Amino acid sequence: MKLILLGAPGAGKGTVAKLLTALDGSVQISTGDILRGAVQAGTELGKEADGYMKRGDLVPDSLIMGIMEKRLQEPDCQKGFLLDGFPRTIPQAEALKVLMAKLGIKLDMVVSIDVPRDVILDRLCTRRTCTQCSAIYNVKSNPTKVAGVCDKCGGPAIQREDETEAAISHRLATYNEKTAPLIGFYEKEGMLKSIVGTSSDVVVNAIKAAVGL
Ligand code: ADP
Ligand code: ZN
Repeated sequence: MKLILLGAPGAGKGTVAKLLTALDGSVQISTGDILRGAVQAGTELGKEADGYMKRGDLVPDSLIMGIMEKRLQEPDCQKGFLLDGFPRTIPQAEALKVLMAKLGIKLDMVVSIDVPRDVILDRLCTRRTCTQCSAIYNVKSNPTKVAGVCDKCGGPAIQREDETEAAISHRLATYNEKTAPLIGFYEKEGMLKSIVGTSSDVVVNAIKAAVGL
């Protein structure tokens, strides 16, 4: 399947994407994970992105489009992909449309995951992410077996630097201002499917039904 997953930070895009990859061999493409990898590796891209990310600001569209143009041409995308955290602005969505036409790729649909704001805030403060394999945990609802250690790879499962209260509220404001308008954009394109759901399993099942799996 070829999907865009839209939703506020903490709506569960990453968790849903990981569950969907197991169904049909589609790959998860998370621009956030790619950027965090670049920051850790200390590449030029990472150096440029670091400051924006720490503040909870968006990285410039041109950097993101450079990443995605390369990523979408890698062979593992042929079976399908789940775009998680991209596009995030109207200019990115417009550039993606041009890129897809150029590469001859047709999207199945755009899924918007709607979760109430209080649930989101609670989730983001209690989320822990493995810096090595990006597995996602939650200290309340899905803790690691050993505190701070990833069950899957043994790497450090810690609170992201942009998951302080100040950065979280800034990320949510940025989402409302820059990313929420994409819902209307894809509605006009006739591609949008909205799913209300705080449970990832409910969201995954609704997507399965919508794409006919
Ligand atoms: P979340 O969805 O939980 O906020 P992500 O991992 O998707 O987190 O993104 C983390 C940070 O990476 C964002 O706050 C932003 O700085 C940067 N980022 C990720 N994807 C994009 C994008 N498509 N455009 C601009 N910045 C991005
Ligand atoms: Zn891990």
